[in-house]
Amino acid sequence: MSKLQPIHVVGGGLAGSEASWQIAQAGVPVVLHEMRPVRGTDAHKTDGLAELVCSNSFRSDDAETNAVGLLHQEMRSLGSLIMAKGDAHQVPAGGALAVDRDGFSDAVTGALEAHPLVTIERGEIAGLPPEDWSSVIVATGPLTSPALAEAVLSLTGEKELAFFDAIAPIVYRESINMDVAWFQSRYDKVGPGGTGKDYINCPMTKEQYEAFVDALLTGDKTEFKDWENTPYFDGCLPIEVMAERGRETLRHGPMKPVGLTDPRNPDVKPYAIVQLRQDNALGTLFNMVGFQTKLKYGAQTGIFRMIPGLENAEFARLGGIHRNTYLNSPKLLDPTLRLQAMPRLRFAGQITGCEGYVESAAIGLMTGRFAAAERLGRALPPLPATTALGALINHITGGHIETIDEGPRSFQPMNVNFGLFPPITFTAKDENGKRLRGPAKTIAKKRALTDRARADLAAWKAGQDMPAAAE
Ligand SMILES: Cc1cc2nc3c(=O)[nH]c(=O)nc-3n(C[C@H](O)[C@H](O)[C@H](O)COP(=O)(O)OP(=O)(O)OC[C@H]3O[C@@H](n4cnc5c(N)ncnc54)[C@H](O)[C@@H]3O)c2cc1C
Repeated sequence: MSKLQPIHVVGGGLAGSEASWQIAQAGVPVVLHEMRPVRGTDAHKTDGLAELVCSNSFRSDDAETNAVGLLHQEMRSLGSLIMAKGDAHQVPAGGALAVDRDGFSDAVTGALEAHPLVTIERGEIAGLPPEDWSSVIVATGPLTSPALAEAVLSLTGEKELAFFDAIAPIVYRESINMDVAWFQSRYDKVGPGGTGKDYINCPMTKEQYEAFVDALLTGDKTEFKDWENTPYFDGCLPIEVMAERGRETLRHGPMKPVGLTDPRNPDVKPYAIVQLRQDNALGTLFNMVGFQTKLKYGAQTGIFRMIPGLENAEFARLGGIHRNTYLNSPKLLDPTLRLQAMPRLRFAGQITGCEGYVESAAIGLMTGRFAAAERLGRALPPLPATTALGALINHITGGHIETIDEGPRSFQPMNVNFGLFPPITFTAKDENGKRLRGPAKTIAKKRALTDRARADLAAWKAGQDMPAAAE
């Protein structure tokens, strides 16, 4: 039996199960604490590990032109338990990887129960983990039990940890029509760290605004689940709720047209203006300021493309509101996902500000490796930000731009997407030397990004100093 002190993992969901597996495979003992069935959550229905609470899809499995497909591939290459059991319990779903949820969860539970270095303890960790647990991974997810959430909150100096997550849509910068939109900050204010041209502005005429308000009022809305009984944040009302309060409310709120001049039509004052603000350090993603919404996804795409300049907008993430628990990670976590205020605690999964089953498991995979490497006294070189895993960690621990003018917090959970990857120069020509345009050019770019990711991940793996069993 190993003489190493165990690493404790709190939460046996997607992230905690993967983290535990990675730690054990590296030869380090692990104690996995899962509160179900002793204490339930409002969404989980079983006592199985890695339970999928809603859809059974891990989304696209295309590693050539899809960011989550690439993430699948990277995780497989690093010995992911979640991917191995997902593959083994696949159900037909076109280009997506969907799984038999019970078979999948049973297989993950069985593999962890059978591992000689894994001990599973059922019970809630209802406060800060005991001081003699020198290395802990907290992977308790969006429905972290309140006692633990409050204990973590007390360490962070933040005001809140669990709330209705008001998410504004995020648009790929390259899909915005800059023949219509323009860069300008309100009143050309430079502000701290700005240039006076920090926002993308989309102008609307009176007719366009009225049609837009009508669409918001009649668009399909998501109903709240019974268990989502946390109030909205002040200042984060959904746009359709604002529209219900009066047809002019948006024009005096997030769509106010003051302090902005369309350089192509300086004499025409727009009736309303939608602003988008840079969302990541790379400048590839822009969020729609103040546009948090609980419109259904299908309705959002159509309604937001009514905005001049966004006719062809592609969304890295649509808006939404649901209860969530996550840290302001760019401020609170270090690059190996340790809490700066208490480095014996690491975080993994949705609580770090990623979103989705696969992303949560991916962060669990890396957090497990970071913790195991630390326990073994080995160096783990930083992951290149050009890989899907690295891009995701970079977003969580530093890539997001924190802004102060939009209410309580601007860091929002994010699925993996190509907007998180550093830009790439690529050959936009076909084999006959003809210039590629439109979708063909987009595919060529995605292929270049995924080829680069594969090469960089291979180089990173070759430079690792971890036990072979980890792969
Ligand atoms: C209602 C709902 C629907 C969702 N639908 C989807 C979807 O369709 N597709 C998708 O990709 N993502 C979806 N998500 C997001 C998804 O839950 C997460 O992305 C993913 O499950 C997060 O993984 P995780 O490991 O961080 O947390 P979880 O998988 O939630 O695991 C956390 C675990 O920690 C345990 N736990 C909590 N507190 C404690 C404690 N104090 N002590 C011990 N154990 C504790 C919980 O019981 C749970 O097993 C949904 C989330 C919710 C809330």
